[in-house]
Amino acid sequence: MKKFFLTTTALFIAAAISAQSASWQQRAEYKMDVELNDVNHQYKGKQTLTYYNNSPESLNKVFFHLYFNAFQPGSAMDVRSRTIVDPDGRVGDRIFNLKPEEYGYLHVKSLKIDGRTLKTLESETILEVTLDKPIAAGTKAVFELEFEGQVPLQIRRSGRDNNEGIDYSMSQWYPKMCEYDAHGWHANPYIGREFYGVWGDFDVNITMAKNYIIAATGVLQNPNEIGYGYADDETKVKKSAGEKLTWRFKAQNVHDFVWAADPDYAHDKIQVPDGPMLHFFYQKNTDYVQSWKDAQPLMTKAFDFLSKNFGKYPYPVYSIIQGGDGGMEYPMATLVTGNRKLPSLVGVSVHEAAHSWYQGVLATNESLYAWMDEGFTSFASQETMDYLFRSGMPTGHEPAYNSYIDIVKEGKEESLDTHADHFETNYAYGTAVYSKGEVYLAQLEYIIGPYHFRTALLNYFNTFKFKHPDNYDFIRTMEKQSGMELDWYNEYFVNTTKTIDYSIAGVMGEQKQTKVVIERKGLMPMPLDVEVKYKDGTFETFVIALDIMRGEKPADGYNGKWTIMPDWKWVEPVYELMIPKGITDIESITIDSSGLMADINRKNNTIVPANAVQFIIDNR
Ligand SMILES: [Zn+2]
Repeated sequence: MKKFFLTTTALFIAAAISAQSASWQQRAEYKMDVELNDVNHQYKGKQTLTYYNNSPESLNKVFFHLYFNAFQPGSAMDVRSRTIVDPDGRVGDRIFNLKPEEYGYLHVKSLKIDGRTLKTLESETILEVTLDKPIAAGTKAVFELEFEGQVPLQIRRSGRDNNEGIDYSMSQWYPKMCEYDAHGWHANPYIGREFYGVWGDFDVNITMAKNYIIAATGVLQNPNEIGYGYADDETKVKKSAGEKLTWRFKAQNVHDFVWAADPDYAHDKIQVPDGPMLHFFYQKNTDYVQSWKDAQPLMTKAFDFLSKNFGKYPYPVYSIIQGGDGGMEYPMATLVTGNRKLPSLVGVSVHEAAHSWYQGVLATNESLYAWMDEGFTSFASQETMDYLFRSGMPTGHEPAYNSYIDIVKEGKEESLDTHADHFETNYAYGTAVYSKGEVYLAQLEYIIGPYHFRTALLNYFNTFKFKHPDNYDFIRTMEKQSGMELDWYNEYFVNTTKTIDYSIAGVMGEQKQTKVVIERKGLMPMPLDVEVKYKDGTFETFVIALDIMRGEKPADGYNGKWTIMPDWKWVEPVYELMIPKGITDIESITIDSSGLMADINRKNNTIVPANAVQFIIDNR
């Protein structure tokens, strides 16, 4: 009896532990046939979706996204775009002013599950489907849908006739199953921000007038019918008889499928050694065609750098496609505007390509953790751009620190754990998820040191690819590699807007040693590197860890003396650092000479003992 009790308890604990991290994923296999009419911009499609319920729950409802319904006057996206304090200039009141023939829409005309027709409830951008029989845990169901859509005039990301004359930018265009994970359904109405999808395979056939060239997620299956630079031997291309052509694409292990179509696309391709085939689709406009040619070898270098530093790109292809309204990431592809000088074209392409790692392959729930997508992507793309363009003098992450510190000083910061749709301003959203998200990583490198940080960043990718990790999975990976406790870092820097400010409050010579009084003025505690420059030209860093870290970072490649000091108890407002040298031997003392700690006031971080009296007065 006792033995049985112990066994069941052990099983229960094992189940509870496995549920904490991403141990199961739903799976979706889409087969779609779609035909787009380029006169009225409407399309009809059929979808067969095999949905695997890998969760431990049985499902009695499912939800689909119908994103194109956002592009109608009065939609949630329209109202949000007009009423937010600081509207996005790309949207503003443009949805409100659309005429019926310019609207977007997507309607499901019929839906069957395992052959049985079900009723559906369309609620703007969400389709709610109540099942007549639940989909039991560990089983699959086959949905068959017929749908009709109209491509909206291009407003945000998707749509027809963008500013540069690209006919169709087709993102978020089909009924897309919402994601269900350990936290339940994520049926967020679309207001123009984040996406979160189910892993799976796509098999998509797109039929259009023959003069169109189509770029899409995945690998083209019928190159010898299509031509346009896809076929091995273009002279042997056999286009089908008739006015239309069907393009067949397949993509595996992705959570979305994008395509774009234009009659004037040029198409080039270039192989990344030990990486994907890169495809480029752009218009041969004399203003920018040279940028699109020159970008190609740089993008192969970028993919190589990203794969070496952030994890191996797992797909066979990547397409950089002129379209959309700026830059937007999709699986195996991006839509970017094309009228750009070379650094701008490479900059946007590198950023969107770097999303392949964080939005594409790791695919954290962007709505809840937008900073783990945009911020981490910004971190990776900044380092890639430094590698491509500034190998001598990298910019590093300084611009991100500056924009984070600016918003703090303006008093407009909102915390990183805010749901992406619920930020009060676009400004606070953008600064939090792009800039503070980038600072989050750069500062973590300061806390645990470059060796542990870079190793753990690769471990994170390899452990959690295709698993939708969250912020606990991430920080736990950093803890395991570094051997340090880091939960406090997320609790302060992610869950609050508390800030960091340390100051050198005073310095006193005491016989043959020097006492430095350091004050924590900000509410967020941090470990400190205090670098002392001696008058003989040597350097020494005094490493003051926080007691709650239970460890301190290694010296890594530091080229001065590395001295570990007693921990700073985080509750203490003041720390006295004893330097075993006379005050007259010291040139200067600096808190965090790397600049990687996001100290909002760096003016009080350095002291030159010779000027100390003046310094203390200045910093009162
Ligand atoms: Zn981005």
